[in-house]
Amino acid sequence: MPITPLMPVYPRSPVRPVRGEGVYLYGEQGEKYLDFASGIAVNLLGHGHPHLTKAIQDQAATLMHVSNLYGSPQGEAFAQRLVDATFADTVFFTNSGAEAVECAIKTARRYHHAKGNPHKNVLITFTNAFHGRTMATISATNQEKLRDGFAPLLPGFTVVEFDNLEQALAAVDDHTAGFLLEPVQGEGGIRPASQEFISGLRKVCDERDLMLVFDEVQCGYGRTGKFFAYEHYGVEPDILASAKGIGGGFPLGACLATEKAAAGMVVGTHGSTYGGNPLAMAAGQAVMDVVHTPEFLDHVTRMGERLRGALEQMIPNHDHLFESVRGLGLILGIKMKTDSRAFVTYLRDRGILTVSAGDNVLRVLPPLVIEDAHVTEFVERLSEAARQYEVAQAAA
Ligand SMILES: *Cc1c(COP(=O)(O)O)cnc(C)c1O
Repeated sequence: MPITPLMPVYPRSPVRPVRGEGVYLYGEQGEKYLDFASGIAVNLLGHGHPHLTKAIQDQAATLMHVSNLYGSPQGEAFAQRLVDATFADTVFFTNSGAEAVECAIKTARRYHHAKGNPHKNVLITFTNAFHGRTMATISATNQEKLRDGFAPLLPGFTVVEFDNLEQALAAVDDHTAGFLLEPVQGEGGIRPASQEFISGLRKVCDERDLMLVFDEVQCGYGRTGKFFAYEHYGVEPDILASAKGIGGGFPLGACLATEKAAAGMVVGTHGSTYGGNPLAMAAGQAVMDVVHTPEFLDHVTRMGERLRGALEQMIPNHDHLFESVRGLGLILGIKMKTDSRAFVTYLRDRGILTVSAGDNVLRVLPPLVIEDAHVTEFVERLSEAARQYEVAQAAA
């Protein structure tokens, strides 16, 4: 077999979407899917949201791309809104999550470099983390499936157990630059860090002048019911990577930092050809218009509670299959007792899109604009599929 024109690095499913409308996707033959995957936590506003679509259309016809060599009224305006809405004082725009994490890593290292401590260049990272697919971001994990065959990896990362404060503190030495973590792990299996862990990391960062770097590429941007997940903990990071939902489907990421943390990021230290171009900024502004309101975030919280409650009620009826529900807001995971990937495939064949994650978890990541009726439809269809799956398994 010759290699496929699309480099065959994905086990692509038979779902071949060509059109989307709200919470539904449609395949080439008109097959209809209930999309509770959202392109892996990207399509916050569902598909074809009129405000986002119009903003992109208008901007595409006005000015799509220039260069970061020129002034950016569009970038300044969007960065100002993000600064006003968060812990941050400054923003670097990227095209993806991995690039936002790369910028976060570089910012943390440059902080210590600028203070005359270039030896403080090691970030402590955590088991089951996912930070992207670039060389630095795969070097920041201990997941063999991401790293296999790509040696030599980059030095400067020490991996310890997630949510284990004692191990994290014990790993700090004179070379430590800070900590890099997802406050709610996504790919690793929808695991929110404990309050004690996050507070403990913040405390040691304050005491030893280290950088607390949050990767909120998946859990941020309204998905937990707060604008960013750190707000749940009452703890602010020094640096934060955002992406996925921030563009609502348009490729966009951002690295946010405090003035102090960005001390080393002076003219010439970093850059990107596309990052923050006018088209991306228009998409970002449109998504933020919708997401960053108290009413919308309350809606996410309410839908999250409804969905979680309905899933928790369903679990005892299928206790051979499901163990528990975890997560925050609309980043939910169902811990399974059987292979979650096989069940995700089974659901997909029945027109329901979800995503599997580590630790045998089925990820439920609906668009944040879902309504009660979608929650009901999802849980009813999930429950029916689970019943049939159990019958099929018993027969096999
Ligand atoms: C998806 C993801 C990334 C990588 O984002 P890309 O846009 O694929 O580069 C990084 N960190 C986390 C937590 C993610 O979920």
